[in-house]
Amino acid sequence: MSRHRTTARATFVALLLAGLAAAALTTPAASGREQGVPRLAFPLVAKTDLWDNYGDQRGNGRHAGIDMENPWRAPVVAVEDGRIEYAESGLGGCMLYLYGRSGTMYLYIHLNNDLTSRNDNKGGCVKDVTFAVTDGARVSTGEQVAWNGDSGDANGNPHLHFEVHPKGGTDVNPFKHLKRASHPLFAARKGTVFSLGLRGELIAAGAGSATLEVNRVRQYPGGRWLKIDTRAVKLTVPLGANVSPSLPQISDSTLRTLKRPIAVTASTLKANATTEAILGAPGELMLGRVSPAP
Ligand SMILES: [Zn+2]
Repeated sequence: MSRHRTTARATFVALLLAGLAAAALTTPAASGREQGVPRLAFPLVAKTDLWDNYGDQRGNGRHAGIDMENPWRAPVVAVEDGRIEYAESGLGGCMLYLYGRSGTMYLYIHLNNDLTSRNDNKGGCVKDVTFAVTDGARVSTGEQVAWNGDSGDANGNPHLHFEVHPKGGTDVNPFKHLKRASHPLFAARKGTVFSLGLRGELIAAGAGSATLEVNRVRQYPGGRWLKIDTRAVKLTVPLGANVSPSLPQISDSTLRTLKRPIAVTASTLKANATTEAILGAPGELMLGRVSPAP
């Protein structure tokens, strides 16, 4: 009898703790109205200058988003799975809405409107100039949706203005969501075939892996080298990977951190894009070939 009661109490305590843990997972620390904003993928594949400029007083009112300095025509990607809607306004220029699966709405403003490599403002807000997908398209996390630009009142000053609207309501400060976002290593639709060129420094190797501090990424076929914020990427080294004889560390059976990093150029094996691969999660990318940088 008494054992019974103890078990019942233990079960009650366990349920209570489970309930508290679940609440801690679903309620962001800041405020209840931000409930439901998931951990985002960063909206750009580019070296980006990020600082908190939300709420700044501007000539046209309170700043409702975060402006991120980054190169003209950098790939702009979906921060979560959702549906795209094109939009256009005088101040915002070429814009898009992403209606996320979580119920959060995201607004991307000042997308590209240039047709040539000059600031010609002749592109309009159309697919293949501004947008990488059709109006109404369903997109997956890390899929390219647009190109960064300087349309609207950003003319001559390319940057992405990004807003977060939990449950489609009032904007909240996107800064902490951007700070803790996972950075996509490249932009791709889930399931499509990709391979990457990577440039950076080999910092650890052995035991079937190679870790690179990557600062440039290129997508094959047809991509161009993009500068990204330097980040470590741990690649799996499959049997038969084409490893330069001058990098014997990579074939070692023991994993070691290199005393002196080595500048290298690498490429990955062709694979189908998964969210983990797009975000460069450890071990997700397969090394195809690697050699010291020329
Ligand atoms: Zn702005």
